[in-house]
Amino acid sequence: MQLMRYQIPFLRIDHIFISHLHGDHYLGLMGLLFSMHLQRRTNELHLHSQKGLDEIILLQLKYSRSSLNYNIIFHAFDASKAQRIHEDEIFTVDTIPLIHKLDCAGFLFREKPKPRKINKDKLQKGMLLQHIALLKTGADVLDGDGNILYRNSDYTLPPQTPLSYAFCSDTALNENMIEQIRSADLLYHEATFMEEEKEKAKETKHSTAAEAATTALKAGVHKLLIGHFSARYRELEPMLLEARGIFPNTELAIEGTTFEAGQ
Ligand SMILES: [Zn+2]
Ligand SMILES: [Zn+2]
Repeated sequence: MQLMRYQIPFLRIDHIFISHLHGDHYLGLMGLLFSMHLQRRTNELHLHSQKGLDEIILLQLKYSRSSLNYNIIFHAFDASKAQRIHEDEIFTVDTIPLIHKLDCAGFLFREKPKPRKINKDKLQKGMLLQHIALLKTGADVLDGDGNILYRNSDYTLPPQTPLSYAFCSDTALNENMIEQIRSADLLYHEATFMEEEKEKAKETKHSTAAEAATTALKAGVHKLLIGHFSARYRELEPMLLEARGIFPNTELAIEGTTFEAGQ
């Protein structure tokens, strides 16, 4: 419903990553899978989760005597260790083991290095497509005698720096993941409670806003988004101030807001 409300073209989603099997993290999934079906999806959909979600989905399909127009490819991962669970030409996804009441994994999304950009103003007459392709790889173009015909640095610009996004929910304060998420451009970290409920956070294996901010600070990330707030907090401003006291570049992950990694 939220994807529709915010006009996210959800048929373009090809991979879904589920951190753990507490209901607040996957109960919307069945509705989404059926909405994709009703909108005549035919492309296969990749679902990355721990074992069990496949059974839950099959059971619902069985008892509603439904079948979907498209195939779901289910990829089960073991949340207890960091592992690469997806890779394509553009990016990689690794699991981040978290500390929670159920086995739970965060996800680290990392863009791969991009090719150098051709500086269009510098292109010369007589340059061939294969010269341009070669320049994009970072190489110089040589003539038949091995002399430099086009020096790479004269015709290309450095590529954009690859971006990274770490999604960490749900978790108690987790020192173990700091190295793995070091220097991420954007970190989403749960902040279910405030410091005044620190004991409650420990007991339920969740974090406080200050703990999320401390992790962001220690990991040297660029920006922190906090979310997963307990319903007991009607006002979120104090939550934000608590985090910003430790890590100033923090924002509240309010639904419908767009945040870009690297900004
Ligand atoms: Zn949970
Ligand atoms: Zn949760």
